[in-house]
Amino acid sequence: GSRLFHPEDTIVTTPHSQIGGDNFTMMAGPCSVESAEHVMKMAEVAKSGGATVLRGGAFKPRTSPYSFQGLGEDGLKFLRAAADTFDMDVLTEVMDQDHVAMVEQYTDIFQIGARNMQNFSLLKAVGKTQTPVMLKRGMSATIDDILNAAEYIAAGGNHNIIITERGIRTFDNKYTRNTLDVGAVPVLQKLTHYPVIVDPSHAAGHTEFVTPEALAGAAVGASGLVVEIHDDPAHAFSDGAQALKPDEYRAMAQQAFAIRKVV
Ligand code: PEP
Ligand code: MN
Repeated sequence: GSRLFHPEDTIVTTPHSQIGGDNFTMMAGPCSVESAEHVMKMAEVAKSGGATVLRGGAFKPRTSPYSFQGLGEDGLKFLRAAADTFDMDVLTEVMDQDHVAMVEQYTDIFQIGARNMQNFSLLKAVGKTQTPVMLKRGMSATIDDILNAAEYIAAGGNHNIIITERGIRTFDNKYTRNTLDVGAVPVLQKLTHYPVIVDPSHAAGHTEFVTPEALAGAAVGASGLVVEIHDDPAHAFSDGAQALKPDEYRAMAQQAFAIRKVV
């Protein structure tokens, strides 16, 4: 993925999106797919803010084994139907190498979560496909760690890779869930030709900080954002504390597109 051997930006192409370079792609949706009706409603909201990619987890990497683990394959069906209804791409996490072929039937972009960034068997498995892979930075991963993780995917022949800065653990994560490493965006863009996007939701951890961090991502030149939205955050199945409500999401998106136009 080095710029040395491939100076021009990689543009990852999906049915409804061109991700990378000067393009600015909005990806939005609930943390978890909760029901067919709910994800359909969230798809409509995502689309109304300019998103071309609908995110949603059906296999959830929860910190506690007793937390909601996701709807599994049923969730993927609901997510696919919602995205198709609004002409959007699907982005969803694959947690297990044995699920790659099944998840691939429903998704346009695989998500590799922060906790699996160095799950090399999983990276090799998605590297054998040609489906785009959105790779999230591990919470304690260095820049070289994530670049090497991307290389595991590329080595298998899949060069459709999107790198995501989603916040890292630092000495002070009392008020934020993680620390958004905004400086990592231009650094990664210098080192790799793969698109670099920002997830302000898992960085901020609290709704009130999500919009400022999203706008920072746009200002620093990210090729897109991936944000969690929910109409009733207090009852969300996961990550309600960091969800933007529909109006908050649309306001954020409008500002982010405007900022990204001038940088
Ligand atoms: C998610 O996208 O919902 C998620 C679990 O993200 P991360 O892997 O960055 O924690
Ligand atoms: Mn989440």
